[in-house]
Amino acid sequence: MTSVIFEKSKIGLSAISLCEEEIKSQNYVDEKYLRIKDAILPEVSELEVMRHYKELSDKNFCIESGFYPLGSCTMKYNPKVNEFLCNLEGFLNLHPNQKDDDCQGALELMYKLQEALKNITGMDAITLQPAAGAHGELTGMMIVKKYFETRGEARTKVIIPDSAHGTNPASAAMCGFEVVEIKSLPNGQVDVEALKAVLDESVAAIMLTNPNTLGLFEENILEISKLMHEKGALLYYDGANSNAILGYTNPAKMGFDIVHLNLHKTFSTPHGGGGPGAGPVGVVEKLKEFLPVPIVSFDGEKYYRDYALKNSIGKVKAFYGNFGVLVRAYAYILMMGNDLKRVSEDAVLNANYLKEKLKGDFLLPYDAPCMHEFVLSGDRQKELGVDTLHIAKRLMDDKFHPPTVYFPLIVHEAMMIEPTETESKERLDEFVAVMLKIAREIEQNPDEVLNHPQKTPVKRVDETLAARKPDLRWIGNK
Ligand SMILES: *Cc1c(COP(=O)(O)O)cnc(C)c1O
Repeated sequence: MTSVIFEKSKIGLSAISLCEEEIKSQNYVDEKYLRIKDAILPEVSELEVMRHYKELSDKNFCIESGFYPLGSCTMKYNPKVNEFLCNLEGFLNLHPNQKDDDCQGALELMYKLQEALKNITGMDAITLQPAAGAHGELTGMMIVKKYFETRGEARTKVIIPDSAHGTNPASAAMCGFEVVEIKSLPNGQVDVEALKAVLDESVAAIMLTNPNTLGLFEENILEISKLMHEKGALLYYDGANSNAILGYTNPAKMGFDIVHLNLHKTFSTPHGGGGPGAGPVGVVEKLKEFLPVPIVSFDGEKYYRDYALKNSIGKVKAFYGNFGVLVRAYAYILMMGNDLKRVSEDAVLNANYLKEKLKGDFLLPYDAPCMHEFVLSGDRQKELGVDTLHIAKRLMDDKFHPPTVYFPLIVHEAMMIEPTETESKERLDEFVAVMLKIAREIEQNPDEVLNHPQKTPVKRVDETLAARKPDLRWIGNK
């Protein structure tokens, strides 16, 4: 096990040398604020500091180390040139309070990204402020709420299918809506009859992702949007699965009124470990006036921060969102151009390839052509004494990141697999070979499969304790 950096400390070592006389003579800090006792900091040489952090980073699994089929997360390869571009000095050192005149370039980028996202989603206006998908959902629900308030309509319910991502009901509930769940049909699609049964004038909106979390395209989407609109309700599109549909269709064509995109999924920003991300929200014309302010507008000569939205819900984030993520997304969209369509083609092809290769050995509860991801069930393996969690842990010893497990909730022992477009056939074949090897191991020697991972820096942890009582502190010299 790696020791913590405090354990590597040796009194007197240092990675920097500052001239104490010089510091004192400059009076950087008022005498009264100076510490009386030295802080307890590790004392380590520069080289050892670097080795320490390199050693830590080598423990990480990342897209550069191997295949990362984490369903719903779109763990694609993110071109390194994006990093270079968002670190350009003019972008990096820009202060968010600078005057519009002094940051025309940055505003132009934001404006053009808004335009590109309008094009991609078919929406009429975009805010770049929200910091993630879930934040976009919250923004969307606030807009729904304000829209009906200004119309003097008391609508209290939001309909959400049982296959939805957990953030959907959470966002609706945070805005004070009552969440009405509808069950999916045996084929994984929204049950339109169940929808009709709960649909009346008390419903404000429905939240849907299409393709849904089973990786299936909702074929009745046009009927659903017609039913909702007939009752005066709105449709919210959870755009986290946009990697499946780029250039083929868009939420406007499906009848949606509000959309979020996860730039850190579909539009190539590294994610995992908590961010930063960006969840721009697009709306149809009649909802534009409710967007958070400012949006970026162009008067034919100058780009400017536009606060003139009559019924704005206000700000949802300090300043203008996570700008670095916006730069990466814009660079990616420009780089891909019309090839964005191929992103979805290849993502869907890769997912169907894996699905067909694996469905003989693992149960495929919804056996239909999938979009960019699909969901297997570990039920067969569980009967032999090995549940999905163990399959996930076993995979790690062959240097594959496990798929998303136990989500969506409507599939027992779920394994949700999303290869993305950036994986080669060779890599997919390696994954298939390992999955089939594990299936054989489970048939022949299930007990052995329970003893993994063995090759990872951290072996098996008690999942409950790790979640409920995380021990993240290093307490002195024990
Ligand atoms: C990832 C995801 C979200 C939430 O997005 P964040 O950016 O993680 O907040 C919502 N819905 C679906 C379907 C997702 O996959």
